[in-house]
Amino acid sequence: MAVAQEIRCSHCGAPVEFEPGEIIATCKYCGFTTVIETGQTFTFEHSLLLNQFNETQIEEPIKDWMRSGFLKPSDLARKAKLLEKTLVYLPFWVVSIEAKSTYKGIFERIAPPIVKEGTIKKEYNWLVLAREAAGFPTREYDVPLEGKIPYDFRKIEGFAKVLNSEIDRDEALELAKQQIEAHHRFLLQQDVDKIVEVHSDFNMKQAVYLHTPVWFIKYEYRSKSYQLLIDGATGTVIKGEIPQKGFGIF
Ligand SMILES: [Zn+2]
Repeated sequence: MAVAQEIRCSHCGAPVEFEPGEIIATCKYCGFTTVIETGQTFTFEHSLLLNQFNETQIEEPIKDWMRSGFLKPSDLARKAKLLEKTLVYLPFWVVSIEAKSTYKGIFERIAPPIVKEGTIKKEYNWLVLAREAAGFPTREYDVPLEGKIPYDFRKIEGFAKVLNSEIDRDEALELAKQQIEAHHRFLLQQDVDKIVEVHSDFNMKQAVYLHTPVWFIKYEYRSKSYQLLIDGATGTVIKGEIPQKGFGIF
């Protein structure tokens, strides 16, 4: 088990708890954000997306999701039992960046194959989860960035969990670049069949540290448990495990 360490908030003096591996921590009493290693004030923009649901209200989008779509068992909404409803504010870096990838490849769909060159140029608000743990479906999470406000600890529900960042801004920027290039490599497969070379240039405009509300739901259906992730700002299901439809006749 991780042992929580403690420093004092340089703004209000309250203890700021953090776990090993966390490098940016936010005081839950005043919302002040500190870089743990250096003890310095965090100088970047820190934003927050507001959660719109309480523990009762969140059941509505859950039931809606369970009732919709032909892939789900027809009695899912009726028979499923909610085991856990946990609201977590996840830390992200939103990297606003211009990316240009120039590529050269071989187009094999005609004979003889030809060499093709091209460019992909796009602007992104690229989302990087500020936690080491993989597994969160970041690419499937369409964050409603329009709704972000300056971080305000008073808007965080007492029952919610707020996770600190394990990744600093430079690391996030590096990850964003890698992920964007991988994304461009995927896109350019529409144009060439074999990639010879790719060169990417980036122009970073801004990096915002953002906490977003995500509901982690656990439900039980026919004595098996499943997980559901819901965007607390909109009620949209980010990802949900669906029980297999039974094909048996018994
Ligand atoms: Zn404080």
